[in-house]
Amino acid sequence: MTTTRFAPSPTGYIHVGNLRTALMNYLIARKAGGTFILRIDDTDPERSKEHYVDAIKEDLDWLGLHWDRVERQSERLEQYHAAADTLRGMGRFYEAFETPTELDLKRKKQLNMGKPPVYDRAALALSDDEKAALRAERGQGVWRFKLDHERIEWTDGILGDISIDAASVSDPVLIRQDGQLLYTLASVVDDTEMGVTDVVRGSDHVTNTATQIQIITALGGAVPRFAHHSLLTGPQGEALSKRLGTLALRDLRDSGVQPMALLSLMARLGSSDPVELRTDMAELIDGFDITRFGSAPTKFDADDLYPLTGRYLQTLSLTDVADRIAGLGVPDDLADRFWSVARENITTLDDLAGWWAICRDGADPVIADDDRDFVAQAMALLPQAPFDDGTWGAWTKAVKDATGRKGKGLFMPLRKALTGQERGPDMGALMPLLQVVRARD
Ligand code: GLU
Repeated sequence: MTTTRFAPSPTGYIHVGNLRTALMNYLIARKAGGTFILRIDDTDPERSKEHYVDAIKEDLDWLGLHWDRVERQSERLEQYHAAADTLRGMGRFYEAFETPTELDLKRKKQLNMGKPPVYDRAALALSDDEKAALRAERGQGVWRFKLDHERIEWTDGILGDISIDAASVSDPVLIRQDGQLLYTLASVVDDTEMGVTDVVRGSDHVTNTATQIQIITALGGAVPRFAHHSLLTGPQGEALSKRLGTLALRDLRDSGVQPMALLSLMARLGSSDPVELRTDMAELIDGFDITRFGSAPTKFDADDLYPLTGRYLQTLSLTDVADRIAGLGVPDDLADRFWSVARENITTLDDLAGWWAICRDGADPVIADDDRDFVAQAMALLPQAPFDDGTWGAWTKAVKDATGRKGKGLFMPLRKALTGQERGPDMGALMPLLQVVRARD
């Protein structure tokens, strides 16, 4: 049975980079009829905040990425300590006492000698007496997992065959000096005990994966299938890491982006399949294939979300947006017409307010100097509101007859005078919604 998890640390709002991870894991689970776990990686009590946990749930809910259950690492510390004891008993866990400054110095020396900055395992040579002395002097040490120095290999769902020399990686610290259990061990214990079969995460985790495979194996767990997606860059290929804070999902939501537009983009970006607007989750699940994704950095441009949002909105019926339209104060009997007229002329639902203001209060007329007399003449021929379906046709015919103007020279100045815009809805359909014409004043 396929089980995946999305495992954010509640230390900030989730952004488009996290969404890529969440979505891929969600789609894999749903496509296989499996389980999708929301796992809160909150082993760091200082940086984890409850309001971020709430915000993560809210953001996933907004997108419709519903989880089957929530797990919290902070409630599973016992299990992690039990695993640590097992590793200790197997001789795969050792205490080390170097201070961060000492480690830094070692790294610099190695780099100066052209060597990779890998922990030298000096602590393995310490006798019990030496350890006791260091403990008395410095307090508890950190606990490192002793990697087997062999090649660690797996077939990655996106990157293909990977082979990493364990000797090129430092023995990972799994327990800090203050006793805090670190993510690597917690994650491995969870993945094993929760029966996680597929792990998709960012390619910044590739080295973690290598060490985690050895820890899982040492603990007798089944190694999940791993896939590492490429990191997102900005539209010009620039690193996004610093800007991801400004691409929080809640900010995109506040700027009017629609969930299905965002999901449609993220389910295809970086794959060899074209981005296609999907209007429901079932279609998205159906069209998802992780093997189509490539390893090259993936360009993300938030501007791409708006045309998709606009197209998505055009697929909605009045019932889908009725509350929003009523909220603007559009009378019930005009709601249907208003939506059908406005929906092709909006990028986000927020734009509806502007069109309704034009209908209700009239627009600031835009009149070119050359058109002043023409518009004045036309306004004199415009009947009083309320207008109906025939108003525009009859009026423009009368204006044409009176002025001799036709085509664009006839219609465009009238559109601009009535709506203040060069583009917009079909005027014939819009007229019955116009309650005030300020160009007439
Ligand atoms: N909490 C980790 C992160 O956000 C999870 C990584 C993983 O998927 O294992 O990077």
